[in-house]
Amino acid sequence: MLILGVTGGIGSGKTAVTNIFSKLDVDIIDADLASRKAVLKGSPPLKKIKEKFGKNILLQDGNLNRAKLREIIFKEKKQKVWLEKLLHPQILKIIKDELAESKSIYKILVSPLLFETGQYQICDRTLLVDVSEDIQIQRTSKRDKVPSEQVKSIIKSQLSRQEKIELADDVISNEGSLADLEEKIKALHNSYLIYAK
Ligand code: ATP
Repeated sequence: MLILGVTGGIGSGKTAVTNIFSKLDVDIIDADLASRKAVLKGSPPLKKIKEKFGKNILLQDGNLNRAKLREIIFKEKKQKVWLEKLLHPQILKIIKDELAESKSIYKILVSPLLFETGQYQICDRTLLVDVSEDIQIQRTSKRDKVPSEQVKSIIKSQLSRQEKIELADDVISNEGSLADLEEKIKALHNSYLIYAK
């Protein structure tokens, strides 16, 4: 079973890319969704988070207050390390279970932090969606209606463009149109089909 890891910085176009692969019948396992599943209401990791930060870390309905937790770990590196140690194994387990269930010819794990979290280690090949920082900022602030400064600070917290280019097996530029992107993905898909056999 061939597992392709797809990554890219914020707003690089990972969703645009995986939507195209999905239309080609490739199953997509999403690390962002797995990280949400890991802290569902009543889950053991969520209980540990509550023990550590108090019941105010939960919303009224018992779900995690993600914005509040994000704020805490953004301010304090020590808490970020604690949280990652707790959650990364849980997230990896969810990802592995979903990959095992998938029956497509090859499958994709899409993760914004594929290299940073070590998730690339369960992939046979990695594909980076690459755009300039200017395009990342422009597209993300338009999509999320947030100021460019906010996007810049997220970019800073991720591995640099150059580091990711060096780590990835394949790099696809998404600076052109969506039609250009689709053409490039179709060509890559054909090579992955051969690779997966
Ligand atoms: P995030 O890391 O924040 O989840 P992402 O990498 O999944 O982002 P997308 O949501 O796919 O990025 O793309 C960011 C924005 O740019 C979206 O609004 C998307 O529609 C747009 N976009 C993506 N690719 C292109 C393109 N080639 N041309 C024009 N717009 C694009």
